[in-house]
Amino acid sequence: MTQPSPTLVSLRDVTKVFSNGVTALAGFDLDVFAGEFVSLLGPSGCGKSTVLRLIAGLAQPTEGIVSWPDSTDDDHRGEIGFVFQDPTLMPWANVADNVWLPLRLRGASRHDAHDRIAESLALVGLSDFAKAYPRELSGGMRMRVSIARALSLKPRLLLMDEPFAALDEIARFRLNDDLLRLQNDLRCTVVFVTHSVYESAYLSSRIAVMSPRPGRIVANIEGETPGPRSKEFRASSRYAQLCGLISQVLLDQTAAETL
Ligand code: ADP
Repeated sequence: MTQPSPTLVSLRDVTKVFSNGVTALAGFDLDVFAGEFVSLLGPSGCGKSTVLRLIAGLAQPTEGIVSWPDSTDDDHRGEIGFVFQDPTLMPWANVADNVWLPLRLRGASRHDAHDRIAESLALVGLSDFAKAYPRELSGGMRMRVSIARALSLKPRLLLMDEPFAALDEIARFRLNDDLLRLQNDLRCTVVFVTHSVYESAYLSSRIAVMSPRPGRIVANIEGETPGPRSKEFRASSRYAQLCGLISQVLLDQTAAETL
């Protein structure tokens, strides 16, 4: 029997009420296990980004607990890489200097950070673009820089908030494959926010489906094991079945809530 993976971060009975009175999450439970690729899938406004912000410590729960059972470090920022939908690059800085930013904020000089920057850019296939400026890059390349920046601190946990939503399909497919390869090479854990059934089915080892706001997990669907996919996977019956199952759960949930 395979050993269960340790829990990296755990959210228990979490409620999040914003100061304007909006209850984004209620009764929200999620365990993120080491090494998994979990997608949070749900309708717009159901609280997916709020979950990422709570995990990152950028927001606090109104009720409930966010804990890191396996970690003694109270400051988990060093363990987390955050990738947003918008690459949020500094337009006046070149690619290498953009990737340097988190290291710089932690006190590393440009000289000291050189190897780590080079390593991060190599991981996303941008070694030849270290001196380029964001305006010279395509949307997909800018997102790669953003991912390299998040990887520069060697995070155990990568939080990704609809990172590929603004990209064309070909770029998105490529980045999907690169992300799976990266996760495999780095052995990190990924929590990925998306509202695309197809993207969640392709990438995830688990799809956590959320209810409309206030969000909570209504189903956990087992996906493929973490790691790169074969070329045939997108055209496979397994992938089609998974997409069908996820769509059905999502539709049933939305219908139940709007009756
Ligand atoms: P999703 O990522 O699923 O689209 P969000 O987590 O961004 O959803 O938002 C959930 C709900 O909380 C939405 O109704 C949103 O308008 C609201 N919300 C998010 N952030 C804030 C905030 N800082 N103040 C007030 N309301 C917010």
